[in-house]
Amino acid sequence: MTDKLTIRDQDVLLVVDIQNDFCPGGALSVPAGNEVVPIINRLARRFQHVVLTQDWHPRGHQSFASSHPGAKPYETIEVTYGAQILWPDHCVQGTPGAEFRKDLQIPHAELILRKGYHREIDSYSAFYENDRITHTGLAGYLRERGFTRVVMAGLAFDFCVRYSAEDAKREGFDVVVIEDACRSIDVEGSVQQTRQRFSKLGIACAPAETVA
Ligand SMILES: [Zn+2]
Repeated sequence: MTDKLTIRDQDVLLVVDIQNDFCPGGALSVPAGNEVVPIINRLARRFQHVVLTQDWHPRGHQSFASSHPGAKPYETIEVTYGAQILWPDHCVQGTPGAEFRKDLQIPHAELILRKGYHREIDSYSAFYENDRITHTGLAGYLRERGFTRVVMAGLAFDFCVRYSAEDAKREGFDVVVIEDACRSIDVEGSVQQTRQRFSKLGIACAPAETVA
């Protein structure tokens, strides 16, 4: 996509999980995750409306390998809602790892949407938890605000950005993912699967420089 993306009043920038634990030095570090921060800061200045998401787990969360005796991080287990990858403990409520990066500078963000706070359900998506039934409330918020297009950036491309993008589409929003403002974890082909899903669903990817 080489066309300019002209920002309108009905557009919202959704900035996904720019938290210490997802950046180098953090508990669930996304390689080069910190590199997106200046890109997202610049991008956010072009948007009147910005929403931030924050992964926000209680201690002993089901998605933590440490909650399952004998399990190791990055293994997949079956839980009530299907397959769940186990992660290192990360983004525990009230800890420094759960805080936004200090260099993330978006003072005009209008909403901070926290997710993953139910102990028994993980939530990659900003719209639905991983049981695919429990709403976070974000779709209703965006609709009430009159937004029709969601532009996304953040961490990680192949998990929380991916599922948020798919669900935004499912909820009837136009979706654009700013791919150079994302970084990936890449577990078992997850980046390739993300690209396949995006092309199947008509989710556009565009570089940050196209945002006018
Ligand atoms: Zn998490």
